[in-house]
Amino acid sequence: MKNARFSPRIGYAGGLTAGMSDNWLILIPTSPEYVPSKDAQERAVALFKRIAPEADEIEVKLSERPRLIDCGANLEKINCPSCRQELGIDWWSDWMSLEYGQGFPLKPAVLPCCGSVRSLADLRYDWPQGFACFSLEAMNPNIQDLPEVVEREFEAIMGCAVRKIWKHL
Ligand SMILES: [Zn+2]
Repeated sequence: MKNARFSPRIGYAGGLTAGMSDNWLILIPTSPEYVPSKDAQERAVALFKRIAPEADEIEVKLSERPRLIDCGANLEKINCPSCRQELGIDWWSDWMSLEYGQGFPLKPAVLPCCGSVRSLADLRYDWPQGFACFSLEAMNPNIQDLPEVVEREFEAIMGCAVRKIWKHL
């Protein structure tokens, strides 16, 4: 495949689109309603640009109500935070649809596994994803991971605990 781009049979476009995918490293506050101050947002963007200088794009996304910040194709399973039993993706999708129609109130409900009362935001997502009004997103960050010390730095700037989401599409 190494000469695919130049092959007259495959063509330039074919070479470019084969296996194309994008990754994002997204930081959100662990508390869904929390939005850092404008100044904190700018400092967080500046830090992200220093950490991931080769990223395609680094941007802040804001919304009135919490929205799902998903991990795309990286989502493998969802577990109960109380009994750790795996919850069905179909069951979760139905709950998501219901809450989507209401603007994600993140209302606690009885879980089918052990009867504990939890919200969509409380579930254990693997890989991690979550709900937030604020997200800081780096497209194709071109870094392996965020060092622990940098994660703490983001938390200090944003004034909240942070969840790290790797999204793959
Ligand atoms: Zn359970």
